Amino acid sequence: MATEMELPERDQMEYDVVIVGGGPAGLSAAIRLKQIAAEAGTEISVVVVEKGSEVGAHILSGAVIDPIGLDRLVPDWREDPDCPVKTPVTADHFLFLGPAGGIRLPNILMPKLLNNHGNYIISLGNLCRWLAAKAEALGVEIYPGFAAQEVLHNEAGAVIGIATGDMGISRSGEMKEGFARGMALLGKYTLFGEGVRGHLSKRLIAKFGLDKSADHAKFGIGLKELWQVKPERHRKGLVQHSFGWPLDSRTGGGSFLYHFDDNLVAVGFVVHLNYENPTLSPFDEFQQFKTHPMVRETFEGGKRLSYGARAITEGGYQSVPRLTFPGGALIGCSAGFVNVPRIKGSHNAMLSGMLAAEHMAKAIAGGRAHDEVASYEESWRASLIGRDLWKVRNVKPLWSRFGTWLGIPLGAIDMWTNEVLGFSFFGTRKHGKADSASLKPIAEVTPKTYPKPDGVISFDKLSSVFLSGTNHEEDQPVHLQLKDPSVPIAKNLPIYGEPARLYCPAGVYEVVYANEQTRADPRFVINAQNCVHCKTCDIKDPAQNINWVAPEGGGGPTYPNM
Ligand SMILES: Cc1cc2nc3c(=O)[nH]c(=O)nc-3n(C[C@H](O)[C@H](O)[C@H](O)COP(=O)(O)OP(=O)(O)OC[C@H]3O[C@@H](n4cnc5c(N)ncnc54)[C@H](O)[C@@H]3O)c2cc1C
Ligand code: SF4
Repeated sequence: MATEMELPERDQMEYDVVIVGGGPAGLSAAIRLKQIAAEAGTEISVVVVEKGSEVGAHILSGAVIDPIGLDRLVPDWREDPDCPVKTPVTADHFLFLGPAGGIRLPNILMPKLLNNHGNYIISLGNLCRWLAAKAEALGVEIYPGFAAQEVLHNEAGAVIGIATGDMGISRSGEMKEGFARGMALLGKYTLFGEGVRGHLSKRLIAKFGLDKSADHAKFGIGLKELWQVKPERHRKGLVQHSFGWPLDSRTGGGSFLYHFDDNLVAVGFVVHLNYENPTLSPFDEFQQFKTHPMVRETFEGGKRLSYGARAITEGGYQSVPRLTFPGGALIGCSAGFVNVPRIKGSHNAMLSGMLAAEHMAKAIAGGRAHDEVASYEESWRASLIGRDLWKVRNVKPLWSRFGTWLGIPLGAIDMWTNEVLGFSFFGTRKHGKADSASLKPIAEVTPKTYPKPDGVISFDKLSSVFLSGTNHEEDQPVHLQLKDPSVPIAKNLPIYGEPARLYCPAGVYEVVYANEQTRADPRFVINAQNCVHCKTCDIKDPAQNINWVAPEGGGGPTYPNM
């Protein structure tokens, strides 16, 4: 039985610090706040909201981690048998692939910055589960299954907390039976650790003009599968990256393949979202990559356990927005701290959470609340994070400008000069344009076609999404909001062939025709229940017409150990 929409008041709870997102950034901030309070003999109350059904359910990463963040946060992690960081990197291979073969580049040529010696292969989701247990043991309240849906402001405009989403609203916007109003979680400060393209972070960046002095934010889409391979195909500790085939030289991206734990292989493919051809399908590029003769044998006789996708921030140093605003701050990939050539962001996510925590704790100790803690913004460039990103700031712009053949060697030379001479010949290059502005009209490109999946090494989208454990309550407002519902068919279809059909890694978007043969009466369909929360549509839509907002808490993928 549906009733008229008359929303009751929200209950509210007050904390010192509210944290949005139980990823490495949010959990590190929470733990660090509690550590500081314990060291000072005071109390800092901290709450974390996480939209996944449990911490880790929405985490998708490679992941080879640089333990620099973990070493600072939990220095004795190596002594904890429950810590899921168990596989040190033992070999580092870098391949250039052509259609029929490839070459392994000698390690001696690789810039030292890319060296994985001392790093570990992990499931980042499992690391987050372990960090969450640590945080709870310190007294942090963690609420999984609750999406932060709205930023709350006081009359002066400062952020004073967030509201979690209402549960039990129907697709048409009416209250259903079992409706539960969201909670207002109020904090002296609120930290936004939503990861890449956070929907509240995006609003805050716009509201406070945080990006007005920053270069364009840049992104890639990363697709990943977890495989259990035959023991004779497993080389525990092997890290392998490739570039080249199946991407053409104007399209940036590459693969990763990490052997870890007991016969597990994490395999993934990143396509930079500044690609130009609207008929490109990142999902199909990934599936094709696995069939390469130098790759497929790893998977023969193995079993695919999981699938998922997530955007990754690629703008680096020059794209980081201002981190602070009255009442809060951005942490982790909500700000964009990924070191792109290293494909590593989790260490900086942790370090930024800790850095923010230190500045917030100081402000709270000084009796402050709801003001701008600018010292966090002022300190990150000189910190480990800034130093990590500064050295590689020109790599992504060089790749984008010069393509694979010239851009990759130039990027490598730039990393060498940064390491050896401490400077770049290129100054600080700009990214050019937003990823949403990079597509060419379909009439100007050669349409791409992909081989049919074999069901053994390569698969289709629907069977893949099934493995992501994605589930949403179907009778809820569509969380992929179109600013103008006419754009997909009136503009995107004739100009670009509606690229959402292809860049979405979960088959959420379709164009269906009343008559498939004559292609009469096209209609844009959104299968929102399939969404794996990668955020690519929010980034890549050429009309910037798709706004991703959090669905009901708990909806989305259920990644086991991604
Ligand atoms: C394919 C791929 C491969 C990668 N490989 C590596 C690698 O090998 N090594 C490495 O170091 N890094 C790697 N990265 C980058 C790394 O994963 C990120 O830098 C890191 O996860 C960022 O941490 P975070 O805490 O900022 O965000 P996330 O890890 O994205 O965590 C954000 C959390 O916040 C939750 N959340 C978001 N919005 C809300 C909301 N409104 N309300 C409640 N909860 C919310 C999400 O569900 C999620 O759990 C990779 C990334 C990708 C996509
Ligand atoms: S709908 Fe958007 S956010 Fe969801 S899976 Fe597709 S591209 Fe990603």
